[in-house]
This record gives sequence, structure tokens and C-alpha cells, in this order.
Amino acid sequence: MANIPEIAQLGAAVLRLRAQVITDIQCAETQRIIETMLDTLATTQGVGIAAPQISVSKRIIIIASRPTPRYPSAPLMEPAVMINPAFEALPDTMEKDWEGCLSVPGIRALVPRYKEIRINYTNQQGIVVEAGLEGFVARIFQHEFDHLEGKVYLDRVEDNRDIFAESEYFKISSSSMG
Ligand code: ZN
Repeated sequence: MANIPEIAQLGAAVLRLRAQVITDIQCAETQRIIETMLDTLATTQGVGIAAPQISVSKRIIIIASRPTPRYPSAPLMEPAVMINPAFEALPDTMEKDWEGCLSVPGIRALVPRYKEIRINYTNQQGIVVEAGLEGFVARIFQHEFDHLEGKVYLDRVEDNRDIFAESEYFKISSSSMG
């Protein structure tokens, strides 16, 4: 396993950059970034990661929903590597639910996100994939996509009262998704 980089923490400039489009998917550098992201995510209880979180300002995200102590109700899926991802919302309906972020430790917040989205991306083999996502997995996608735009989830919180210390969050939510 490659060296595991530290996760960029809130305040790091790389988290506020618009990440660059990947032009060469098969090149060794891109593949190395992806492997490092997979290895890094595996050492955490996170359900997704974006390249800027390992201080690489490129448009790669990984969605890896799985039940963890951090997200006990998350659905299980194989990690999906998404290069140059894009999405559009289907119905213009949003719902608030809990999110956390490896780059913002100790905090949870209620964040409005689209319930259903249509996504497209290029996978690790260079194949363009289109898919529909809903619920928690759609939420993870939108969270990770924001990292590519230089945003963090706290930017989307509507009211400071929706921000909780993680210790308080665990008191009120034993079964919440996020
Ligand atoms: Zn995050």
C-alpha cells in the first residue's frame, strides 16, 4: 500500500480551489492518484473522498457507501471511481439530512441536497458512465462534487443552528443516515 497522505483539513487552500479537469485517464499519474485515494479512504470511516482532500486539485471522486460506525445505516456498494463527474437534478426537490466530512472533524450538520440526480462520469478504465442516484448515495455524490468546486458542506448549511458537535449529534441520532 502506498503512503497514506494526511487528509486536508478545513482552512487548507486546496479545499477552496476549483479542481482541474483530467485529460489523460490512463496515464500513470492519474492511476496513482486514484490508488492513493482508494487506500486513503480504506483507512477511514468515510463513505467518499475527493482528490482535493489528499491535496490533489483534480476532478476525481470516489463514492463508497458502506455501513461504518460513522454512518451505520449507509447502503453497501463497491467503491465507484468517478473522473470528471457532472450531474443534474431531476425533480427540483431538496431534503435536509446529516453530513460530516473527513476534512471537518468533530462536526455534523443538516445540509439540503437534491434527492434524485442524474450523473455522468468517466470511470477508471476510461469508459463514460451515466447513472441515476437517489437518497444517501446521491447526497454523497453532491458532497464530493462540491469538493471539486472548492466548496465544503458547511457552505450549504441554511442556519447555524443546523451545525452540531459530533458528540451532540450522536446523542440525538442512533439511526440517521449521515
Ligand atoms: Zn467532505
